[in-house]
Amino acid sequence: MNAHLVTVVFVTVLSLSLLLRVWLARRQIAHVSAHRDRVPEGFRDVISAEAHAKAADYTCANQRFGLIQLGFGTLVLIGWTVGGGLNLLNDGVQRFFGGDEGASASLLYPVTLVVLFTLIGSVIELPFEWYQNFRIEEKFGFNRMTHRLWVSDIIKNTLLSLAIGIPLIAAVLWLMGAAGPAWWLWAWALWMAFNLLLMVIYPLFIAPLFNEFKPLEDETLRARVNDLIQRCGFSAKGLFVMDGSKRSAQSNAYFTGIGRSKRVVFYDTLLARLSTGELEAVLAHELGHFHHKHIVKLIAGLFIMSLIGLATLGWLAQQPAFYLGLGVTPNASASNDALALLLFLLVLPCVSVVFGPLSSRRSRQYEFQADAYAKKQSSGADLGTALVKLTEDNASTLTPDPWYVRFNYSHPPVIERLAALKSG
Ligand SMILES: [Zn+2]
Repeated sequence: MNAHLVTVVFVTVLSLSLLLRVWLARRQIAHVSAHRDRVPEGFRDVISAEAHAKAADYTCANQRFGLIQLGFGTLVLIGWTVGGGLNLLNDGVQRFFGGDEGASASLLYPVTLVVLFTLIGSVIELPFEWYQNFRIEEKFGFNRMTHRLWVSDIIKNTLLSLAIGIPLIAAVLWLMGAAGPAWWLWAWALWMAFNLLLMVIYPLFIAPLFNEFKPLEDETLRARVNDLIQRCGFSAKGLFVMDGSKRSAQSNAYFTGIGRSKRVVFYDTLLARLSTGELEAVLAHELGHFHHKHIVKLIAGLFIMSLIGLATLGWLAQQPAFYLGLGVTPNASASNDALALLLFLLVLPCVSVVFGPLSSRRSRQYEFQADAYAKKQSSGADLGTALVKLTEDNASTLTPDPWYVRFNYSHPPVIERLAALKSG
């Protein structure tokens, strides 16, 4: 492999993925703007012209801001790689340990490099997160976060990431050095075990650090819901209400966890907005995801993709051209494992954009399946009105661009979901 060739391939793939993303975002803006002043047929009684225009403006504001973020992210990526940023950071960390053989031989040097790289990356993202919350969400009346909460979220997130991330990254780097040429297979096993563990501990211990989860209190609703849960063979212990209103006025429901941590979570904002019948239908939809084993299937997909990814990394890490072509001079005396890992993570998103349509198509199929299940177990009409309310409350557009949907939508457009509910 030749270093120049690596650079050329990288720049080409990066440019193509950038063009694709810009093209999709511009299509979305154009399509949504063109339909801004006309509520689609069949929705005129339920969505006001005002709400429809607001959804269009919100969608376009997010897309335009997304384009700025994309431009900035691309500059950062170029800066880290061929711009020499990672090389510079690596030199600095190496110098800090002053050729200390012990630090280079141990995990101190590579872990420090990965942690510093991640922290720098997070810090430069902060202004964007701030603008998203306190300018865009605020402008459309969605933001409920105070600056105090925003800062405390950042601190909690950082501490948590360090507490979980450092042991994980140290273990991966140790395997890279100690497990021989097939280290990536071991790292894969570790990564999978970590993901499974996270799926159990996230709902039980991590999510409660950020939100309050309470059992459902409303008696009449509880009786309805218990009936449904028994019909569907789910445990009633797994139904929670979360104080989502702490951060946003938008409402939602989601399913999470495996085994005993399996649960369905309603936002308090959803509870306040939907009727009992509608809530039952939304719950039935979430239970549909469990019924069809969507979490297990998603994990299986992650297993396969991770194996391919790590095997590729195992090979790339051995090629000097991989480092040189991406702007990094391999270390002479210390291990290059951390550099290989970071370069790989940097370039991965350019390649993964190709898989976007595949994974989002599968996700949209799952949504149709869960809707059909809800129709069978509860009521299709109630689910339909609930979806319309959610669309309005969250200012989701009724008229997305079909190509944008193909690439980016994890949920089918509401118009398609309603049509499927009516027909099937
Ligand atoms: Zn769903």
